[in-house]
Amino acid sequence: MSPDGAVNPEKYLVTCALPYANGDIHLGHLLEAVQTDCFVRYHKLAGDQVTFVCADDTHGTPIELSALKRGILPEMLIAQARADHIRDYAGFNIGFDIFYSTNSNENKNYAELVYENLKKNNLISEKEINQYYCGYDKRFLPDRFITGTCPRCKSENQYGDVCEKCNATYEPTELIEPHCFICGNKPELRQSKHLYVDLSQCEQFLREYINRPGVLQDDMRNFVKTWLDEGLKHWCISRDGPYFGFKIPGTEDKYFYVWMDAPIGYISSTEKWCRDNGRRVEEFWAKDCGTKVIHFIGKDIIYFHALFWPVMLVNSKFNLPTKFFVHGFLNVNGEKMSKSRGTFICAKEYLEKVKHPQAPEFMRFYFASKLMPNSSDIDLNSNELLNRVNTTLANNIGNLHHRTFVFCERYFDKSIPDVNWDESIATIIDESAREIAGYYERSELKNVVEKIHLLGSLGNKYYQDCKPWELIKTDQVKAAEVMVTCVNLIKAIAVFIKPITPELSARVERQLGMTFSWKDYVFSLKNKPLGTVEKLVKPIEEEELAPVFAAAQVRQEEAVAEDEKEGFISLDAFKKVEMKIAKIISAQRVEKSSKLLKLQVEIGKEKRQIVSGIAMSYPPEDLIGKQVVVVINLKPVSLFGLISEGMVLAAQGADGKPVLVSPEKLVHSGAKVS
Ligand SMILES: [Zn+2]
Ligand SMILES: [Zn+2]
Repeated sequence: MSPDGAVNPEKYLVTCALPYANGDIHLGHLLEAVQTDCFVRYHKLAGDQVTFVCADDTHGTPIELSALKRGILPEMLIAQARADHIRDYAGFNIGFDIFYSTNSNENKNYAELVYENLKKNNLISEKEINQYYCGYDKRFLPDRFITGTCPRCKSENQYGDVCEKCNATYEPTELIEPHCFICGNKPELRQSKHLYVDLSQCEQFLREYINRPGVLQDDMRNFVKTWLDEGLKHWCISRDGPYFGFKIPGTEDKYFYVWMDAPIGYISSTEKWCRDNGRRVEEFWAKDCGTKVIHFIGKDIIYFHALFWPVMLVNSKFNLPTKFFVHGFLNVNGEKMSKSRGTFICAKEYLEKVKHPQAPEFMRFYFASKLMPNSSDIDLNSNELLNRVNTTLANNIGNLHHRTFVFCERYFDKSIPDVNWDESIATIIDESAREIAGYYERSELKNVVEKIHLLGSLGNKYYQDCKPWELIKTDQVKAAEVMVTCVNLIKAIAVFIKPITPELSARVERQLGMTFSWKDYVFSLKNKPLGTVEKLVKPIEEEELAPVFAAAQVRQEEAVAEDEKEGFISLDAFKKVEMKIAKIISAQRVEKSSKLLKLQVEIGKEKRQIVSGIAMSYPPEDLIGKQVVVVINLKPVSLFGLISEGMVLAAQGADGKPVLVSPEKLVHSGAKVS
C-alpha cells in the first residue's frame, strides 16, 4: 500500500470474471464489475501500477447451440456479444485496460502450454465413457444437443442434463425417448475416450495454497476445504468434436472443455495488453514476479477458481493468485435474478430506461454502499437505491458543496479566500484518509460510503454551527476561514469518493482546476479563483427509476401467469401457503349439514375454529386429540353462519370419502409443515 506518495508502488493485475458470450450483461455482472473497478481505481489513484483485465468467455456448447438456432456462425455470435458487452460496461464507466476474448491465438497457445505441462507432470489420464452419438449427423451429442422427456415430471422436449420445467438434473442416458436436437433422429450409445486431470495428486498443494493468509475469505476457505475433505474427483477436460473451442493437440477430434480455457483467458488477455503497450507478460504471470494477481468472482464459480485454476497455474510455473474477492448473488427487490422468472435486469435496459444523466453512477454508488468482502447475497431495492442516493449524494455532500461554493461566489468574488483553514477539521481528514485507504484495500466499500457520509454530515454541521451568513456581517476573516475549511473538506470527500463515482468527482476537479490523486485529500487550497460552479448531484425521482423496475415486475407476472397456464405454480407461490400441525380439542356436528363438522383446534398456544367437511368419515368423538395439518393463512370464511379460520387437509379415500392427513409420528402442536 502506498497512498502517501507511492515511493514503492505495488504492482497489481486485477480481473473480474469473464462474462459468457451467450447473453447480455445484467446487473449481477455489474455488481462484480463495480466492486472490481472501485478497487482498481483506488489503487491507480494511490499511485500503484494496476492492470485491469477482462474478456468474453466464448467457447462451449451453449454458444454453438445459440449460433445454430440463429443460423449464424459462432464467431459472428461472439463478435456481436463482445461489442454489446464493451458498450454496456462502458455505460457504467468500468475502466478495463483490456476487454479481450478467449477465442484468440494467445489463448489457444496458453491452453496448449498448460495442457502439455499437466501431461508432463503425469496428471492427465484417459477413460472410455458411454455417450450418445447421432449416426445421421455423424457426431457425439453433448447434453444440450439431446432432447427427450424428463424422467421425473415427464415434460417433453427437455435437454439432456436438466429439465426446465421441474429443474431435475440427470444423465442424458436417463432421458425418455432421446433424440438428436439437430436432426430429430434417435441417437445410439457409443464409447468415447476422454481426458481427465487427476486433481487428487495436487491435494497437498491445494491445502497449503488455500491456507495462505489472505488468499480466500474465511467463508470460502471452509467451503473449499469441504471439497478437499470429500476427496477430489478426476476432472474431465475434453469434449468431442464438433465443439466450439480449441482442439486438443495429439487427439483426433477432441476439444478443450470451456472451463479449461476460460480462466487461461486472464493470462492471454494480459499478454495481448502487454504487446499493445510495450510490456512483457512475465512481469505479471511469471512465478515470483512480485505482481499481485487479484481475482474478483461470484461464489458460484469458486470451485473452478480455487481448485482447477491453481493446479493449472502451478504446473506451468505461473504466478498464483494473491487473493480472491468472492461476492454473493444479486437479488432484485427481494427476488432472485432469473431469466425464466423475468426478474433479470440487463445493463442496457437500465441505461435506456432510467433517463437521469447520473443514473449509472448512482448504481455504482448504491452497489458500493452494499458491498463487503463476503459472499452474502445482496438485494437491490429500488426504494433504498433512491434513498441512499438522495440522502448521501444529493442532500448531504451535494448540499455542503452547493452552499459553500455559492457562498464563495457571492461574498468572496468567485474565489477561495486567502486565510488558513480550521486545523481540527484538517486533522480529522488526515485520520479518515488512512481509515478509508484500509477500507479500499480490503474492498470494504460499504464502510467507505458510510465514512464519507459521516464526513459530509460533519461538514454540514460545522457550516451550520459557524453560521457564515451571520459572520460575513461581523467577522469577515472568520467567515473566510469557514469557507476555506469547507472547500478543502469537499475536495477531500471528492478524492475519497473518486473510485466509486469518478464523474461526480470530476465536477469538483473541473471547478478547482486540478486532477486528483489520492494525496490531494490533504488540505491545501486557499487564495485561488474558482471555476464555474457545477451542481454536483441532481436528486433522482421515483418516476425516473420506476420504468426499469416496473418492466421487471411485469415480466415476472407474465412468467407466473405462464406457469399457471401450464398448471404450475412457482415455489414462491407455494411458500405463501402456511401450514401447521394442529390438535383437535373439540368437534361437533353442524346443524342442517350432513358433511360439516365444527372443530376447535389448538395450533401451538393459539386456538381456532375450523369448519371442515369430514362428517361423513369421522364421528366427532373419534377426532378429539388427533393431530392434523391445517392451512392457517386462508382468509376466514363463513359457512352455515359459522366462522371458519383455516382448512384441515384431507385426502380422497378409496370410497370417495375424506381421509385426514396426519403426521406420521407425534410432533409439537404448531409445528410448521412445508
Ligand atoms: Zn422435469
Ligand atoms: Zn442428428
